[in-house]
Amino acid sequence: MPNVRYVTNLAALPGIPAHARPHLERIAEKYKFRANDGYLGLIDWSDPADPIRRIVVPDAGESEDWGALDASNEAAHTVAPGTQHKYAQTALLLVNEVCGAYCRYCFRKRLFMDGNDETSMDVGPGCEYIAARPEITNVLLTGGDPLVLSTRRLGEILARVRAIPHVRIIRIGSKMTAFNPHRILGDPELPRMLGMHSLPDRRVYLMAHFDHPRELTGDAVAAIDALIRAGVIVVNQCPLLAGINDDADTLRTLFRELSFAGAPQYYVFQGRPTAGNLPFRVPIVRGWHIFQEALRGISGLAKRARFVMSHESGKVEVVAVTDDDVIVRYHRARDPAMRGRVLVYERDDDAAWLDELRPRGRRPSDEPVGAALGPE
Ligand code: SF4
Repeated sequence: MPNVRYVTNLAALPGIPAHARPHLERIAEKYKFRANDGYLGLIDWSDPADPIRRIVVPDAGESEDWGALDASNEAAHTVAPGTQHKYAQTALLLVNEVCGAYCRYCFRKRLFMDGNDETSMDVGPGCEYIAARPEITNVLLTGGDPLVLSTRRLGEILARVRAIPHVRIIRIGSKMTAFNPHRILGDPELPRMLGMHSLPDRRVYLMAHFDHPRELTGDAVAAIDALIRAGVIVVNQCPLLAGINDDADTLRTLFRELSFAGAPQYYVFQGRPTAGNLPFRVPIVRGWHIFQEALRGISGLAKRARFVMSHESGKVEVVAVTDDDVIVRYHRARDPAMRGRVLVYERDDDAAWLDELRPRGRRPSDEPVGAALGPE
């Protein structure tokens, strides 16, 4: 299996004109650049708008003053070192601060910056917190990408979490199947170890992250297959991103191919207003139409995904857009009283985040954040 070579120097990229490099290098000083030769090999350098290029190569628009580094205020839910707890059933363990490459649109890019202290390799305090709370049935290992860790280290973490009897599902958030499938194909011990912790009534899920069908190479599909055969359940989630997957044909192809590979799409996220992410902004109404159009003509297994926003107040599904309204439903809510509530907002075709929508019949400053129609 080929070893990947990491690339952190923009000068090593063939498709960046010399005059553009200083500005992009300044951007990369703030929002780290990291890729690998295998993934960079998927780029068509003759196309400045190539979607794979947009995923990993800095964009001049990232320097626009827009958004916040922690747009959903995740850090506020830190309950122990490297541990976040927002919704009763689910805890997050942020186990490292490195990924196979860095997505330019990352909503957690703050973790890759100097001085960040939200991650922790020591899951001891987090596991003690989880063990004391029987309502936590789901633990998400994230970061950063947990598959960057050695198989031995990741195995120790999984064993520790698996030893907590009430944790039924362990999810691992990873883009490694796209960025470097050889991490899985070249280390058979990795899928074996993950499968060992995936038991009949307490599974391991790999939450894959493919944004574009061109990332689903033969090796990527083989890596998914290796995980499935080892007993891991694989699903996919990705944000809707301008210039990458914001057209119905691309998204439909992604959904179809993922269903064929056994990694069906779970969520499509409305992109958070994260600092540096202006080049990837897609308004909600446009995103909803793209999403709906993408669902046409594909099998039921390929179109089970939901279009959601991970808002500070909860996980909000965009369920409908009418001539006048945007209608959303809270799947999960920080405030239990909001759980399942359906809310109506005035349609605004430029709004790209819940806070930019005006609740119907209310002033934006009113609480709760929309006109409630009742529980689901
Ligand atoms: S793989 Fe996930 S955490 Fe890593 S850079 Fe991409 S979006 Fe961010």
